[in-house]
Amino acid sequence: MASKSVHTESDITQDVQAGCFSGLFRLRNKSDAKNEFSKDRQSQVTQESLSSEADTSELPAYVQYPYGWYGGYEEQRAPVDQVAEKPPSYDEDVFRPDVVSTIESKLKELSPSLRQLSLDIWNHPEIMYAHDRLTQFMSSHGFSVTPHYLGIDTAFRAAYTHSPDGKPLKSARVIGVNSEMDALPGIGHGCGHNLIAMSGVAVALAIKAVLEQHAIAGTIVLLGTPAEEAGGGKIKLLERGGYDEMDACIMSHPSSGPDNFSAIWPGVACQPIDVEFFGHGAHAASAPWEAQNALDAAFVAYASISALRQQIKPDQRVHGIIVGRDWAPNVIPDYAKLRYIVRASNWAELEALRKRVRACFDAAALATACKIQVTLGAGYFELRNNDVLGREYANVVGRKYGMTTVSSSEGAKFSTDFGNVTHALPALHPAYSIPTEPNGSNHTPQFARAAATPEAHAATLKVATGLAATGVRVLADAEFARRVTKYFEDNKASTSS
Ligand SMILES: [Zn+2]
Ligand SMILES: [Zn+2]
Repeated sequence: MASKSVHTESDITQDVQAGCFSGLFRLRNKSDAKNEFSKDRQSQVTQESLSSEADTSELPAYVQYPYGWYGGYEEQRAPVDQVAEKPPSYDEDVFRPDVVSTIESKLKELSPSLRQLSLDIWNHPEIMYAHDRLTQFMSSHGFSVTPHYLGIDTAFRAAYTHSPDGKPLKSARVIGVNSEMDALPGIGHGCGHNLIAMSGVAVALAIKAVLEQHAIAGTIVLLGTPAEEAGGGKIKLLERGGYDEMDACIMSHPSSGPDNFSAIWPGVACQPIDVEFFGHGAHAASAPWEAQNALDAAFVAYASISALRQQIKPDQRVHGIIVGRDWAPNVIPDYAKLRYIVRASNWAELEALRKRVRACFDAAALATACKIQVTLGAGYFELRNNDVLGREYANVVGRKYGMTTVSSSEGAKFSTDFGNVTHALPALHPAYSIPTEPNGSNHTPQFARAAATPEAHAATLKVATGLAATGVRVLADAEFARRVTKYFEDNKASTSS
């Protein structure tokens, strides 16, 4: 599947579900007409649970908007209507309204082909397909494409430089854009990365149009970044110098949530951990005393972590699954594997929490006399969105489309390898909502369906307009670019220990 798609050597586990909105809260059914379960309803739910996809709209409506949509606790208590503010006409204050008009016209012109691109990727959730489709698309629009970038089969770089007077550009700036494109096993584009792929293309092409039509110097670099859900594709690109040339980098991510809404959340740091227990098999009835039960080790660890969960912070997460191999009820398992993910608000807290989780694994091995092997996956740092970039983006989408935007130190508990990018250079990763079915947040078949709708396409193009305008300002406005860099340097200084 696509999420196992970084075809390169690595000492980390490649197929762990680590990334993006793996831990995002669900948007519960708004109606609370049925929150009591009668016997009839219980049998109905049981029936539904037997089908491959239950009707999640029948879940109780005990949460309307999850913690994090509006940042702080006080904010989330306010209904949406009360926190949404209609901004004034954008023409008065947005940087270069003529540029925004050019972006909008270009995206309107490209919209049918961008829609087709998004749907093609949605219909073919294989990463090599997306790589080939996207590189072909960028080449056909005048970008210089490097496929299989930096030794990664499914990464690519697409670049375009504009020099109004035809002279070589020495001091012109470089804006980076990212297109994620990987899918989820069994769910397809349940995280909407087809929209992210299309959005990156839209932003890059819109900026190109502006540079050409408004005689602005600069370079656009679109990176095709595979393996966000697992394997940390951007971390490999970062380590191999893929972001060195950029002055700033921008991308977006769809999620569920209120209509016409975008949030600049910090996300959380995250790390996958694979734990293998090696025991000794035996006949489960005739000689159980001969065994070292690896399944028991996994079970003890699972139970210990479930207890630990009560004593960790509200914004921390530890979640995982148990995987077997050749299990049978009459054979005591000699092997079991746990696949866990630890998340915390920042990397330092994550390391402390990981230590406590590790103790649960070790204790289980000790209790069952099994051997243990622990493999750490790629560590995703928390997002550090650049506030100067964020305000610029919010100003455009707020004034132009009346989009409600929030920025807060708290947020939804998602993680992304783009977090590592934000620690290395000025960068922005707004989330935005697309219309979803009830209880149909990221990583569900319901969200996959939502990612293919015309409404999702329209929401993505609004966000792309805001990002493209922000990217243009990095290239066109030296003072703005200086403030972007200064914020990054100051933030780095204030958060490093
Ligand atoms: Zn995801
Ligand atoms: Zn995602």
